[in-house]
Amino acid sequence: MLLIFGLKRYVDRLAVVVLTCAVCGVSGPNTLWRRRTKLSLFFVPVLTVRRSSSAQCPACGSERRLGSGEARLLART
Ligand SMILES: [Zn+2]
Repeated sequence: MLLIFGLKRYVDRLAVVVLTCAVCGVSGPNTLWRRRTKLSLFFVPVLTVRRSSSAQCPACGSERRLGSGEARLLART
């Protein structure tokens, strides 16, 4: 039996919110990103194996990792 499987990454932009960067201190519109890695069987994504969220500063480009609850709260505002 031949089993075809693999991993694929998905990147979604959740929202743009005003935050103060911890690296450069500039307050501005940060982009919230959600990254997911899904397991595919026969080219069909069936299971999410990894999730992460982050906020990216537009001034210096640094990314700060967010918890899933924190990213969800920020995306609602
Ligand atoms: Zn910054």
